[in-house]
Amino acid sequence: MTGKQPLTRRTFLKAALALGGWAALEGSGLRRLACAAAGSAPEVFYQGKRRLPYVALTFDDCYNIKLLQELEHMLSAHRRVQVTFFPTGTALINASRDDPGLWGRLAAQGHEIGSHSYQHALASTLSAQEMRDDFERWLEAAHQALGYLPAVRFARPAYGELAYSFMKLCEDRELVPTMWSANWGTAPERAEQEIPQMRGGDIALLHIRAWDLENARLAIRLMAERGFKGVTLSTLYDASHDVRLECRPGDPCAR
Ligand SMILES: [Zn+2]
Repeated sequence: MTGKQPLTRRTFLKAALALGGWAALEGSGLRRLACAAAGSAPEVFYQGKRRLPYVALTFDDCYNIKLLQELEHMLSAHRRVQVTFFPTGTALINASRDDPGLWGRLAAQGHEIGSHSYQHALASTLSAQEMRDDFERWLEAAHQALGYLPAVRFARPAYGELAYSFMKLCEDRELVPTMWSANWGTAPERAEQEIPQMRGGDIALLHIRAWDLENARLAIRLMAERGFKGVTLSTLYDASHDVRLECRPGDPCAR
C-alpha cells in the first residue's frame, strides 16, 4: 500500500467491516485489500517473492532459554542459515538474566530481531497510545539484552492479530507488519507433510518449543537439499524488491 493518507481508526474499521470483519480475514489475502481500502496502512509482509531461492525461518515468543540455547547451537552448525527472532519483551529480559550474552551472540551471527511486543497482549485490547508505550518498553528490553539500541525493521503482532493499534504503530514507527506464509510449528506428523511443500519466498512461523526445533532441523536439511538459503527477513524483504537476485530458469529453486 502506498497511499499517503494517515491510517485512522475510522478508515481502518470501515475497510475491515466492508470485507466482513477483520477476524473473518484471518489467514486470507483479503486483509491486504482491507489495508488498501483504508488507503494508508503499511503493507503486510506475508511472503517474499516466490522465485527467490530464499526461505525465512522466524521464531516467536522465545520464552524457553534452554531451547533457545539449543537452537543457537544448531544454527552455529549451519552458518549459511540466518533466521529472525520475534521475542517478547519479557522473554528478552528473562534470557538476559539467565544468559546475558545470548542475544548479543545471536545478533553477532547475523540473526535478526523483530518486535513481538513487550507483554504479548491482543492488539485489539490496546489503544494506539498503549501500543506505542508497549513498543517503547520492548525496545528498551532489546537495548538491554543486546547492549545497544537495535535498528528494528519488522514487527509481528501477538496472536497474529492485525488490529488497528498494531497497524498504527507500524505506520508511526515505519515497521513492516509481518505475518507468515507457512506455519511449521505443528506436531511432527503434520510438519513432515507440510515442510516438504516449502516454496521460495516462504516466511515460516515457528516458536521456541521442542518440536519446533525438530521441525526447524528438518526444514534446514530440506532447504539445503533443494537449493534454498535460510535468510533473515531483511534479506528476504530487500531481495524481493531486487530482480537481480531471482532464480534462473532450471535452478532447483525456480520450480
Ligand atoms: Zn506470540
